[in-house]
Amino acid sequence: LIILLHLDAGPAERAAVRAALQRLGLAIEEARLGERTTFWVSGADVPAESLARLPGVERVVPVGSRSPLVEATRVPGGRPVSVGGATFGGGHVAVIAGPCTVEEPGALRDVARFVARAGAAALRGGVFKARTSPHAYQGGGTSALRELHAAAREVGLPCFTELTDPRQVAEVAEWADGLQIGARHMQNVPLLVEAARTGKPVLLKRHMSADVDEWLLAVEYMLKTGNERIILCERGLRSAERHVRYLLDVGVVPWLKQRIGLPVIVDPSHSAGDWSLVAPLARAAIAAGADGLIVEVHHRPETTRCDAQQALPFNDFARLVQDVRALAALDGRGLSGAPAREPPPLQAAAGA
Ligand code: PEP
Ligand code: MN
Repeated sequence: LIILLHLDAGPAERAAVRAALQRLGLAIEEARLGERTTFWVSGADVPAESLARLPGVERVVPVGSRSPLVEATRVPGGRPVSVGGATFGGGHVAVIAGPCTVEEPGALRDVARFVARAGAAALRGGVFKARTSPHAYQGGGTSALRELHAAAREVGLPCFTELTDPRQVAEVAEWADGLQIGARHMQNVPLLVEAARTGKPVLLKRHMSADVDEWLLAVEYMLKTGNERIILCERGLRSAERHVRYLLDVGVVPWLKQRIGLPVIVDPSHSAGDWSLVAPLARAAIAAGADGLIVEVHHRPETTRCDAQQALPFNDFARLVQDVRALAALDGRGLSGAPAREPPPLQAAAGA
């Protein structure tokens, strides 16, 4: 098994744990795991429960699985992740909403205002886009990143944006509250590691062809840095089906929730590929136990340069948040970061 010491365990605690293990005659190997010290222990009759109570020990993890650090996140109540006022997990459901890509700053501010009033807990907006085609719009880069930050701050929300290259990490970490790693980069190990090393919350999407073990091993790379603020996001799989863009794996949500303590959210937009399917898929995800959603919303969907067909118009988003609130309440959960104020008017804001 693996003994993980607390992040702040000092040399005295380390020596005391080592001495206790030696007294028990166990074979031990000390290793750094990101910022932490760990002891990898083997031997017959290892008294896991008493080892877990030693001062300085955070957890004792059995090494039966390929992703022991992910397994170690399974603690009572889970490991909710908070990003500003948005809490994912631990009985809180949070909705991230905003455009696929940051285009005009004025329009972004309208979207931010609307989604904040409708009950979104965080603003999204792509600036470094991971596009399948090199001829497609690649995103507004640095200036768009600053616009995203400004729009989010104006409405008091944290913001999430995707990064596609380890060289973007420092800049994105400076301006964004949550770092998104997209489906196409799920196995970009240098990116996973550099993003996690910032200590910022990282939202990791599942690759459209990844099985759950591959996804969890990508999470394992990030946990190994010592950063445990990881949010998993199911966004649909490549399948034989042609009527939806990607096939949403709703079943993976309860499957993961039974086995890991990290929050699991769902992206109904990229799986649907069609705005009229977004709300039903989102409701299915929340009913299945998802800790949140990431939804593409646009003030004038027909004008956006990216994922126009799946962008949810304002009114539909406001209705969706009300449904999410009601569904979450069914199993005793609450909407995170939602204003207790009056609901937004059901008409499009400026530009429509
Ligand atoms: C996105 O969120 O805009 C995106 C590109 O998603 P995915 O990585 O799931 O394709
Ligand atoms: Mn998109």
